[in-house]
Amino acid sequence: MPSSVRTRFAPSPTGTLHVGNLRIAAFNHLFARGRGGAFVLRVEDTDRERNVPGALEAILEDLRWSGLEWDEGPDCGGPFGPYVQSERADRHRDRALALEKRGVAYRCFCSDDVIEAARTDVRESPACPGDCRSLPPREVASRIEAGDPSALRFAVPDGEVHFIDEIRGDISLHGRDIGDFVILRSDERSTYNFAVVVDDVDMTITHVIRGAGHLSNTPKQALLFDALEAPRPVFAHLPTVLGPDGTRFSKRTGAPGVHRLREEGYHPDAVINYLSLLGWSPGDDREVLSPDELARAMDLGRAGASNTVYDPEKLRWMSAQHIARMTLEQLAVAVSPHVDRERFSLGDDELRPILEALRTRLHTFSEINLHLPILFPSAEILAEAHAELATEGDEALEVLTGVRDALEALDAWSGDQADTSVRGVGRALGARGPALFHPVRLALCGARSGPDLGSVIVALGRERALTRLDAAITGIREGEGPDARGPGPLEGEEV
Ligand code: GLU
Repeated sequence: MPSSVRTRFAPSPTGTLHVGNLRIAAFNHLFARGRGGAFVLRVEDTDRERNVPGALEAILEDLRWSGLEWDEGPDCGGPFGPYVQSERADRHRDRALALEKRGVAYRCFCSDDVIEAARTDVRESPACPGDCRSLPPREVASRIEAGDPSALRFAVPDGEVHFIDEIRGDISLHGRDIGDFVILRSDERSTYNFAVVVDDVDMTITHVIRGAGHLSNTPKQALLFDALEAPRPVFAHLPTVLGPDGTRFSKRTGAPGVHRLREEGYHPDAVINYLSLLGWSPGDDREVLSPDELARAMDLGRAGASNTVYDPEKLRWMSAQHIARMTLEQLAVAVSPHVDRERFSLGDDELRPILEALRTRLHTFSEINLHLPILFPSAEILAEAHAELATEGDEALEVLTGVRDALEALDAWSGDQADTSVRGVGRALGARGPALFHPVRLALCGARSGPDLGSVIVALGRERALTRLDAAITGIREGEGPDARGPGPLEGEEV
């Protein structure tokens, strides 16, 4: 059922999206989804000096990859664009000037140098170093008339400022500890905090869910909501995510970029699943949840306040769990772009049976390249296997010849049929267990153990399987010595 819940994700295009940002986006997205509400994307690009070319496009791509589609935005003839904060500069200025008219903001004529000298925080200018709040209106008017540059400062009311954080409870501090802050710079550009609030008001955001790093902005923003005569949204500050060593992600060992997880082929649903469990739990013992299940369970009441630790191994495990839930078709589509085609020249139709044999080994889609050599060993490994088989003599030769002929006679190339016929050959020859399976596996894959044999045979395909059996039979007959390098790459073999 649609509801009035509206959340937003407000990245600044100052770099690429990392797991910390994506976690914030995920909470907002899931919270809105679970309530039939809307998830809004707003690009906060007002700090022009810090914007990085191309960052916005990369952020949008990462969000789309992770399934966190946003619900509205300017019509760009295709999918919605995001709202762009800098395009709303006039609106920010107008609302700031309206606050000046109402006397809740005042002109500060302190020069940039003076303000700069008193600056303690890179984002915000410090309280008025002069005494501009008490300038007589006539003086203000004449200085404006004379063209004196001035910024607009918000007059913070004297007394306690309270706000409720959904996770941390009631938070209060004294207005004097906030200090009158600039909302409009002398060049008429809005400051960060003011633009955020004007946008949140205009976009009727009901829940502001963000990282604990923003807690210090919230008292100012709460006051601005009041001053703009708009209801305050619910504020929820999620606990900080620490690096695997329990310390903050440093500049050098920064939080992993979402693009890296994408390139490495993590299942996107697993990434969202894992990140949403950092500082929150569904309230039961479930750990592996689909986006829909997460959305249904998402509830800020179960979010914790203590810092949480990013564990890459857990994420890898989670990705394997989500991969295990995929259909073979879905998996083939997801894995295909990750296959190293220079090493393994496989067609997409060949990929499905291969995945059937190898899928349980995958934690990420790109790990397919680690496991493909199980089915596509190098010519050296096959030659060594032939040499090994040659030392086993006639019994191995009999098994391989029997299996080869039985497989060739199969009318359907299925795992069950292949398995049954290999066992049938074993029974006929009185070869059981290792005496049967080792030669077959060595001939097919160059190793004594591996995935389920039926699935290996199907994955190799009729032609490749028979060619390998033939090569092994020839190898044994010719008595390949341990030094033999074998027949070189076989037709159609990748090395
Ligand atoms: N643009 C801010 C950031 O990238 C987010 C602001 C907010 O969520 O209120 O950190």
